[in-house]
Amino acid sequence: MEKNIVVLRGDGIGPEIIGETLKVLKKVCEKFGHTFNYTDVDIGGCSIDKYGVPITDEGMEKCKNCDSVLLGAVGGPKWDNVDPLVRPEKALLAVRSELGLFANLRPTKLFSQIASASPLKNEIIQGGIDLVIVRELTGGIYFGKRSTFSENGEKVAVDEMKYAEHEIERIGRVAFETALKRKKRLASVDKANVLDSSRLWRSVMHRLSSEYPDVDFSNILVDNAAMQLIKNPSQFDVIVTENMFGDILSDEASMLTGSIGMMPSASLSSGTLGMYEPIHGSAPDIAGMDIANPLGTILSAAMMLRYSFDMHSEANAVEEAVNAALNSGYRTADIMQPDMTKVGCSKMGDIVAENI
Ligand code: NAD
Repeated sequence: MEKNIVVLRGDGIGPEIIGETLKVLKKVCEKFGHTFNYTDVDIGGCSIDKYGVPITDEGMEKCKNCDSVLLGAVGGPKWDNVDPLVRPEKALLAVRSELGLFANLRPTKLFSQIASASPLKNEIIQGGIDLVIVRELTGGIYFGKRSTFSENGEKVAVDEMKYAEHEIERIGRVAFETALKRKKRLASVDKANVLDSSRLWRSVMHRLSSEYPDVDFSNILVDNAAMQLIKNPSQFDVIVTENMFGDILSDEASMLTGSIGMMPSASLSSGTLGMYEPIHGSAPDIAGMDIANPLGTILSAAMMLRYSFDMHSEANAVEEAVNAALNSGYRTADIMQPDMTKVGCSKMGDIVAENI
């Protein structure tokens, strides 16, 4: 198969972790007989430096007209004080919205080889942590009307949280379908005891649940969900929630595994086009030092193979190659443990590629 991939290396460690991921994809192409054509597009600070904007219109068009987008990370102190309208992160919101990427999938998996990195006690993690958070990405409070005004002699600010039924239904379907491919358990997180938008969310999810009788469906209030993730994370398989709750809960969940450098993510549209990126940022403190962990980006590429290209054996091969590298005792600095072999970013990429 031939696929066209737009590569957004971005800033900080972005170019390093993407470089290692492309090494692994090269081996996937060799082994499975595929051709991947790459088009580089500048995004974030590097684009601001060259063009004055975090992504050009031409770059955006390339993203819209490819089979998939692979992203490193954007941002860094150099661009912290630029005009808020052209900040590096603006490009990410623009790509999500222009490509209609309404579903963000964040798998959270505790790799048994590095379980001691988890901040949770052994007795809590011994049941394993292997869950996926499905977060609505283009609606809710982050996209609602906002205003700041004066009232009774003081400043007042308002952010609107708005959801339409069709927005809830389409993310709900992604979540039910995801659950069907896993352990068939889905928890919908809302705040239906207080918010109207959550009551609508809950009623749409209930209606959908009757179409998926094989999925064990439940509702959970967001405050309880935050607590249960710490108390008993193995009870969860798939969690679906709106944009802001998902933003907060997915960061909480990723910390349970103890290693931000290991976690992948996928942002999906209603078609096959998706954007795949690690959950971490551009890590300017370690950029250019060849010590970043490339595994989150490599695992994001595995998600790209599975979700955008329907290449399941290829995705499994990448995930198994990562597992094999960990089983052989190789660790980047962020996940280093006693008696293991410390390797840099590029060596870790070589080892995973060799394992394909
Ligand atoms: P960060 O995720 O970049 O870094 C947090 C900490 O984790 C740092 O100590 C860093 O060294 C470490 N770390 C992150 N990724 C790592 C990896 N792969 N291997 C080893 N260690 C890793 O978060 P931050 O420092 O808050 O943000 C830095 C910049 O990234 C900011 O400009 C921020 O806006 C941006 N950011 C971008 C994205 C994105 O592109 N999607 C996401 C979050 C933050």
